[in-house]
Amino acid sequence: MNIINRVPIDLHSHTRSSDGSLSEEELIDKVVENGGKFLAITNHDTVNGLDFASSYALSKGLYFIPGVEISVTWNGNLVHILGLNIDYTNSELIKSLETLRSFRIERGRKIAAKLAGAGIPDAFNQAMRYCDNPESLSRTHFNKFLVEAGYAKEGKAFDKYLAQGKVGYVKQEWAKLEDVVAWIIGAGGIAIIAHPARYGFTRSKLIKLINDFKLCGGLGIEVVSSSHSLNDIENIAALAELFDLYGSVGSDFHSEQSFRRIIPGINMALPSHVKPIFPLIGIIQD
Ligand code: AMP
Ligand code: MN
Ligand code: MN
Ligand code: MN
Repeated sequence: MNIINRVPIDLHSHTRSSDGSLSEEELIDKVVENGGKFLAITNHDTVNGLDFASSYALSKGLYFIPGVEISVTWNGNLVHILGLNIDYTNSELIKSLETLRSFRIERGRKIAAKLAGAGIPDAFNQAMRYCDNPESLSRTHFNKFLVEAGYAKEGKAFDKYLAQGKVGYVKQEWAKLEDVVAWIIGAGGIAIIAHPARYGFTRSKLIKLINDFKLCGGLGIEVVSSSHSLNDIENIAALAELFDLYGSVGSDFHSEQSFRRIIPGINMALPSHVKPIFPLIGIIQD
């Protein structure tokens, strides 16, 4: 018997506008097919595709929340902040994200140089083959190349080459936490800490992040995520309650993978003691 409650809500997903494998249209079709009712598309450092997605979702009867997932360097650590219900025509947000994306090509060349040093030639051009928008070049595109060219098994290229401390890793200074939260709020959105358990922080470091985030005006934290174990969900739910943050749920869907099944559009329900972020972004459930 399946005792896990599920909700037709997904507030974190990716398309080909950043490092996902599906187009906006394909993702929305899949979400509708899965029975999803509320979807946010949250690509890395870009709002490309949201305009089309918003009208396509409407035509399919899907409630659409425009979103973004922004790369932050906080105390030397990479942290992802989601902005939900943003006005994606906001010029300051658009300009700031453009600057952030401009780092990606340069970093991609450095990653490729490091991989070349490890005996893997031409990685820049090869990764680019998987990437629709060069400015959105991501480690995910390098991952695809490394797996398909046989340099790593599916699901192993980060551990072998791309993760922090590995031979192809290049340190990048992304945006500042306070700036990112300000851009999101300036664009009328709600800021949420993405997949907090994934950073490998100690409890006290995570609490420091939460405190800094709240001081900037951040309101939410992702409690349910495909990066979280049941134990992570419990821990983050307790922190959400303790620090009076609204809880969010997101599949963080990128692509269909043979080794891990993630269903875009559907998530586990929030633990009942967590205040849901849903009403703040216009989601009213019956
Ligand atoms: P980037 O923003 O280019 O540094 O790439 C980060 C992206 O790589 C994340 O958004 C994930 O989609 C992906 N990623 C990071 N770590 C892993 C991992 N260990 N396994 C698979 N994908 C990962
Ligand atoms: Mn990604
Ligand atoms: Mn992320
Ligand atoms: Mn994501």
